[in-house]
Amino acid sequence: MTTTATIELAGLDGGHHTLTSEQLEDLDSRVQGRLLVAGDQGWNDAVAIWNGMAARLPALVLQPASAHDVAAAVGFARDHGLLLSTKGGGHNIAGTAIAEGGLTLDLSCLREIAVDPDAKLAHVGSGCLLGEVDQATQAHGLATVLGFVSETGVAGLTLGGGFGYLARRFGWTVDNLAEVEVVTADGQLRTASRDQHPELFWALRGGGGNFGVVTRFSFRLHEVGPTITGGLIVWSAERAEEVLAAYRDLTDSAPRELTAAAIVRLAPPARSCPRSGTASPSPGSRCATAARTPRPTLPQFARSGTRSWTWSPPSRMPPCSRC
Ligand SMILES: Cc1cc2nc3c(=O)[nH]c(=O)nc-3n(C[C@H](O)[C@H](O)[C@H](O)COP(=O)(O)OP(=O)(O)OC[C@H]3O[C@@H](n4cnc5c(N)ncnc54)[C@H](O)[C@@H]3O)c2cc1C
Repeated sequence: MTTTATIELAGLDGGHHTLTSEQLEDLDSRVQGRLLVAGDQGWNDAVAIWNGMAARLPALVLQPASAHDVAAAVGFARDHGLLLSTKGGGHNIAGTAIAEGGLTLDLSCLREIAVDPDAKLAHVGSGCLLGEVDQATQAHGLATVLGFVSETGVAGLTLGGGFGYLARRFGWTVDNLAEVEVVTADGQLRTASRDQHPELFWALRGGGGNFGVVTRFSFRLHEVGPTITGGLIVWSAERAEEVLAAYRDLTDSAPRELTAAAIVRLAPPARSCPRSGTASPSPGSRCATAARTPRPTLPQFARSGTRSWTWSPPSRMPPCSRC
């Protein structure tokens, strides 16, 4: 961290608190992770969130290197009455990952993933993005229920319930959550599951990010892929009535393995979309089968758009270069 004499931080009481350089050094000495202020290398990435319209700035960022660092930071924030926020993948649309003028814990260094194929469990650091978990579990032909977009954070998605391609077959993300390691407001590191702190576990399964700072999630895994059938099928808006009626019939009768979503939007300028269609609204449908099952019967006009594909890592996955 750049040497700073004092720093003003937003407090829980709505006022401002001045931290002296000694107090900052005290926090720095309690943690292994990096403390950042504006202008430091890595600051822009640490405070970036998906929704630029909701962007705001903290006064101080800590990038914890361990659950112990998270506990130390929570204790420090509590002792000094500081406004504290937690950033997982930064995809919350309201921008709640960042505490305006406060202390933000950027969990991007908690990226460890351990897969136990025998127990069919994945232990996932709370700074992981969805694609990283899929990559690790698919190496064993396994997967858990995560979302549609690989760059979303595991933490916020899971704490909000979580749904994605596999939800119809295996339930919500939180239905597949076996255990959580979490730092609660008293600075204690706890394990919550159906057997340990069951009420805390219940609250974390969909209650959002206000019950503590999660440092690790353990998910149950299922045999999926690695080859599945999926794809995006695009039609022009003139066929909306016909397509949406067929979509309704399809989802009425589809097997649990099929997840499908209809989207009405301007077609993106993608190679897969016909040029003439890119400026006009196009009802489309995403679909994917969630297991090694025969391809489901799709309406005739949709069949040509599906294909079998094998998971590969997204090219834009940001590496964790700071840890
Ligand atoms: C492009 C896009 C696609 C999406 N697709 C899906 C989808 O397919 N399925 C779905 O269910 N949702 C989806 N969402 C919604 C998404 O799951 C939520 O916005 C979720 O909050 C994002 O999690 P995050 O970790 O990236 O967000 P962040 O903004 O980092 O965090 C979200 C909230 O969780 C809190 N939080 C983060 N980490 C922790 C932690 N370790 N402990 C405690 N609290 C924490 C934060 O403080 C914040 O309040 C999508 C969102 C976007 C923008």
